[in-house]
Amino acid sequence: MTQHDHLLDAYARLVVKTGLNIQKGQQLLVTAPLDAVPLVRRITEHAYRDGASLVTTIYSDNAATLARFAHAPEEAFDVAPGWLFNGMAEAFKAGAARLAIAGENPSLLAGQDPKKLARANKARSQAYRPALELITGFAINWCVAAAATPAWAKSVFPGVPEAAAMEQLWKAIFACTKADQPDPIAVWEKHNADLHRRTDFLNNRRYRALKYSGPGTDLMLGLADDHFWKGGGGKALNGVFCNANIPTEEVFTAPHKDRVDGTLSSTKPLSYQGSLIDGIRVRFEAGRIVEMTAEKGEEAFRSLIGTDEGAARLGEVALVPHSSPISASGIIFNNTLFDENAASHVAVGQSYTENIRDGSKRSKQELAALGANSSLVHVDWMIGSGKLDVDGILPDGTPEALMRKGEWAI
Ligand code: ZN
Ligand code: ZN
Repeated sequence: MTQHDHLLDAYARLVVKTGLNIQKGQQLLVTAPLDAVPLVRRITEHAYRDGASLVTTIYSDNAATLARFAHAPEEAFDVAPGWLFNGMAEAFKAGAARLAIAGENPSLLAGQDPKKLARANKARSQAYRPALELITGFAINWCVAAAATPAWAKSVFPGVPEAAAMEQLWKAIFACTKADQPDPIAVWEKHNADLHRRTDFLNNRRYRALKYSGPGTDLMLGLADDHFWKGGGGKALNGVFCNANIPTEEVFTAPHKDRVDGTLSSTKPLSYQGSLIDGIRVRFEAGRIVEMTAEKGEEAFRSLIGTDEGAARLGEVALVPHSSPISASGIIFNNTLFDENAASHVAVGQSYTENIRDGSKRSKQELAALGANSSLVHVDWMIGSGKLDVDGILPDGTPEALMRKGEWAI
């Protein structure tokens, strides 16, 4: 085996064991770009070795996606494969694990008709909802990992020849996921313990809000009542301990959907369904985005937050130190899985049930009354930098320094 094959195999093993923790007799549903075939084959092999009963992979093909935008009839853009997504939801209900391999071309759909894009995304989000609810409700063990693909690599390393760009991107993926270390699984155990210490601290403080100050940012972000901080691995409702993101550096919780006020600016580009969005500035009033501009991809961001009422409100707030290994790599990945772990961030849209105490035992109405947000979408965007200060506001209103210049102050 070449060095690359060794690392690819170590990474596949990490994803199956630490990411998914696939169980004997469990089915596994994988989605991946076509270019990820070599990684998916290794993952499939490790999953079977660990006792998976059946691994099913659904591949996406950029050329086929583009062909739809070029040639499909006008009315086609309100259509989504509901039958497929319902089947996925059925599989999760029957106990299947879920693995998503990221690696899309971040600008695949740049230049396509924004109206068609918005319709296609909305139809897809609506059809996907039953499956997404099982994922955000943490019903089963799931994981998002990544594979370098030529189009993605070229967007991260512009001007570098394709083969070299692929090599650099894989190198970065192996480093950020710690797959290049001698015993990645043990390294992840320690990493999880570190993140759990952080969430224990935050859960004990019971902050009612976070206050953000930085360039273009002056925000009071109320936290949901009975919110719960999570980070690193956790136990899904099916009893399986998994790491939903490889890599992960964040600790995160649920904002209060009605208690966010002030201005907020993004610090890194966001790739959303084939559009690159950058330089976002928004103003919140009582939890809702009431003004927005973006230097790039403004139309795509506007259509995202226009998806439904909850898409213009926050469903996640996450703290990541500016010195995180992913940030220290200096690479802007144009991919949320990596960029969200390089910087503090927020997400518009659906909140995670696990971010409310006993969330899985509460009704939708109870969750909403506590401030949890509900939407067809959940999209993270980055607000952290070496210039961001964050205070935790204690229940009695006293501020406490949480982050200074992007680093933990606690
Ligand atoms: Zn996050
Ligand atoms: Zn998120």
